[in-house]
Amino acid sequence: MSLSLTDTKPGSLTGEEEGFSPLLISGPCSAESEQQVLDTARGLADQGISYFRAGIWKPRTNPDSFAGVGKKALSWLQTVKSEFGMKTAVEVANTSHVEAALRHDVDMLWIGARTSVNPFTVQEIADALRGVKVPVMVKNPINPDLDLWVGALERILRADVGQVMACHRGFAVYGKTVLRNSPLWEIPIDLKAKFPDIPLICDPSHISGVRGYIYTISQKALDLGYEGLMIESHVDPSRALSDAKQQLTPKDLRDLLAKLRFKQPTTSNLTYHTRMQYLRAAIDEADERLMEVLAERMEISKRIGVLKLENNLPFYQYNRWAEIVEHVTRKADELGVDGDFVQKLFSIIHLESIDIQGE
Ligand code: PEP
Ligand code: MN
Repeated sequence: MSLSLTDTKPGSLTGEEEGFSPLLISGPCSAESEQQVLDTARGLADQGISYFRAGIWKPRTNPDSFAGVGKKALSWLQTVKSEFGMKTAVEVANTSHVEAALRHDVDMLWIGARTSVNPFTVQEIADALRGVKVPVMVKNPINPDLDLWVGALERILRADVGQVMACHRGFAVYGKTVLRNSPLWEIPIDLKAKFPDIPLICDPSHISGVRGYIYTISQKALDLGYEGLMIESHVDPSRALSDAKQQLTPKDLRDLLAKLRFKQPTTSNLTYHTRMQYLRAAIDEADERLMEVLAERMEISKRIGVLKLENNLPFYQYNRWAEIVEHVTRKADELGVDGDFVQKLFSIIHLESIDIQGE
């Protein structure tokens, strides 16, 4: 079974390049009843959704929370497929989930954030899937650890399954934050640099935790070139048995998809390519100048280090650092460069200078 990223077309797709649209996955956090599953699916059926998702075995933090209805929902998903023409996707967290899902023709499996942290479990799932050409999506582990995510993806890739995808659902940080899970965008960006051919899907629902942020997070993901979105939807979110605050009604999902600006992966516009070539050459030249100035600054730093050493003075001098910050933020302001960014940049440069002086 192969997954095409071009087989859906949300109504809101704009732009000159025909045929591209991100992979859309939607459906309830949990399958609760046959009625709820089918009513939700009915509302999604004409929205260009490729995969109807539903959690049937739910990993819950609290043992008293609703833990999913289990296997009986698999036949409801078969009805979604036959009645509404959407493929189906469920979360699997052990080998018996994998076997049951495959027996009931589930079209895509995903490994949740609480499972991808555990190499033993991921390996067991990979072994159960060996050679089965079903698409598998690996969510980021709950903690911000790129290597753990990469390791989980590699275990699944080596199992020779169907299309492997990565899903960014944000990372847990201790304490109260506005978003339920911190997106830490640099981690999925680093993952994409390592695996450019693995489609990256954003799950704005679990990043946001509440409906109000889903649009902004989705748009940011599209702006970064993500290949798809997985957004939770429920026919009656206020009565949902899990994640009630973050699920959208099918109608709200439709409005959200209509508002989003979808990006194209490439363009055949010649003017774009010519201008981009020129601008990239200009950036490369500016970067070279930046490196030359940086090398010059490091050289001066070394000379300062020698002087401090000769006079038995510490390399780090707090007052001087305060002066540098003051100086560069004033200059940044003059040049219209963001002051916070410049401070962050200079704290790295300054640390490197101190290291050089200590060598
Ligand atoms: C889910 O998608 O319903 C889910 C449980 O997600 P996560 O593993 O990201 O918490
Ligand atoms: Mn959920």
